[in-house]
Amino acid sequence: KLSKRLETVANFILKDTVFADIGSDHAYLPCYSILQGIAKGAIAGEITDGPFISAKKQVIKCELTDVISVRQGDGLSVIKEGESVDCITIAGMGGGLIKKILEDGASKLTGVKRLILQPNIHANFIRQWMIDNGWELIDEEIIEEDNKIYEILVAEIGNPMRPYQTNSLQAGLLLGPHLAKKKSAVFQKKWTQECNHWKTIVQQLEQAGHTYEANEKFKELSTQIKLVEEV
Ligand code: SAM
Repeated sequence: KLSKRLETVANFILKDTVFADIGSDHAYLPCYSILQGIAKGAIAGEITDGPFISAKKQVIKCELTDVISVRQGDGLSVIKEGESVDCITIAGMGGGLIKKILEDGASKLTGVKRLILQPNIHANFIRQWMIDNGWELIDEEIIEEDNKIYEILVAEIGNPMRPYQTNSLQAGLLLGPHLAKKKSAVFQKKWTQECNHWKTIVQQLEQAGHTYEANEKFKELSTQIKLVEEV
């Protein structure tokens, strides 16, 4: 059985298309998506030896070697020049690394219809990258599994500013414009926890000496608390 996190990613893959799963590890997502009849083909990309071997084994075990190509390489370099890929999934990494993979592989994004990204942290880095590169965030999900909260970001080529019309851009980038609109229970839990954590730090900063760094951090966190509380 696939994790709820990866199942949520799978549900956004465009039907009957080919997708590339970058940092695929065991290739659970490609195998599941094909076996469920969601996608018709996949590339499982992995940079590291161990996970690359695991992915190969899993695809053989599922008897999917004719529809899933397991490739070793860095980020989008596993997609060949001119190869047609409809969706790209990148899950289970930090937002900074996902952003770097998208930047380094920019030429491979031509023709890609949809990106489905699941950053473990720093989703805001990816939202900013989307704005800078013409991708419109069309939907977002936030889920909780095993006491961890995950965000899933879905983007297509479009008008990147369209989702950011309700709240300030800063709040939208931090919280996610769709998530901030839906305000699910998990969303409220995540940001209540974050705010409480920031408030503790702010209190500690107030008690500590007023160095330049402490003052800057104080200002940054106070602004973030205000942004979140307004939403
Ligand atoms: N995508 C799977 C998931 O969500 O369960 C696996 C996540 S795992 C925590 C991250 C994987 O990304 C690791 O197997 C790692 O080797 C791989 N990885 C990290 N940087 C990468 C890169 N630049 N290109 C391809 N794979 C990468």
